[in-house]
Amino acid sequence: MTDISCKLNLDAILQKSLSGIRLEDEDLLFLLKEREISEISKIKEAADILNQTVNSKNVSYVVNRNINFTNICGLNCRFCGYKRTKNSKDAFLLDYDRVLEKISEGISLIGIDEICVTGGINPELKLNPDYYFNLVKTVRSNFPELHIHAFSPQEIYELSNATGKSYAGIIEKLMDCGLNSMPGTAAEILAKETRKKICPKKIESETWVEIIKTAHNIGVKTSATVLFGHLESAEDLVYHLNVIRSIQDETAGFTEFIALPFISYKTSLRSRVDEAVIRDVDKALKFYAILRLYLDNFKNIQTSWPKIGVQSALKSLDYGVNDFGGTLMEENITKSAGGNFGEYLSEKEIIKLLKRAGKIPVRRDTLYNYVNAEINKGFNV
Ligand code: SF4
Repeated sequence: MTDISCKLNLDAILQKSLSGIRLEDEDLLFLLKEREISEISKIKEAADILNQTVNSKNVSYVVNRNINFTNICGLNCRFCGYKRTKNSKDAFLLDYDRVLEKISEGISLIGIDEICVTGGINPELKLNPDYYFNLVKTVRSNFPELHIHAFSPQEIYELSNATGKSYAGIIEKLMDCGLNSMPGTAAEILAKETRKKICPKKIESETWVEIIKTAHNIGVKTSATVLFGHLESAEDLVYHLNVIRSIQDETAGFTEFIALPFISYKTSLRSRVDEAVIRDVDKALKFYAILRLYLDNFKNIQTSWPKIGVQSALKSLDYGVNDFGGTLMEENITKSAGGNFGEYLSEKEIIKLLKRAGKIPVRRDTLYNYVNAEINKGFNV
């Protein structure tokens, strides 16, 4: 078998990308392999040029609050430190009053534009699928203007199973209740063998793809995600990113790509993954740059400050990243897996950090429309 590194050349790949020619999967594989520091600098530079061509120095962020409605989950993914069983002493399932209280708090304290609603796959809710529909309906009737970004393809699958409705039927019903968009989580890694190893009970990758396309085709935008830095190979990442890029070609329904590094400390997968891989922020930064080069049909690449830390997230803005994510206000999932980079950044702090990094902070809504850009002028660094 010929080593592809013999046929391919980094400068030629970068030149191709800078000239607007789409990278092939073999180019991506070549970029993902170990590279010298000087080569990583070249990848970074190319990603930064491409990003600035599309987004200039603008870095967007959203003022939002996460609502984790339950931590009870029957799926037992091996990378997850968040799940609890029903009998755990810190298990919870929020009632609607508590959800409304959290939203009111988010609006009065920081003026949120969005709530991002995620949770475990609580077995008891299988018997009570109306919980999901009524949750959205209740939020919508109390907060007509709020953007509701809720429920991953996994939840759509569970609701479809519980009710006998099609995926489209479930998404349409949620839309009728007030849903605006969906997180493209539960993708993890779409390459089948590795997916089976890290989350054997999650939906098959084909099901994830089918639900995402269904959502896009009926007008519900989603994010796209990948979980990286665990057992996956470079080939797995190529497979995953190829699937995502192809869906985007077909539907244009993804708002952004979010690469989520595996946070291991309190998870059962920890013993299988080399700590050096997990702590390798440089590798994560290189990956962000490669995303900008390969995902030529994505305008927005988002960093993840709760997972890599604020300073590394700021660094990533020179590696092709143009979105800083959200204020979050409550980020239990990373914290439960052992992440220690905090769960809230105020808008004022985000603006200050972005300006200091030489960027132009722009507040956006969930669908990446710039909102209230004037607000940024009010903050002094
Ligand atoms: S990642 Fe989500 S689905 Fe998997 S165990 Fe954790 S809470 Fe459950």
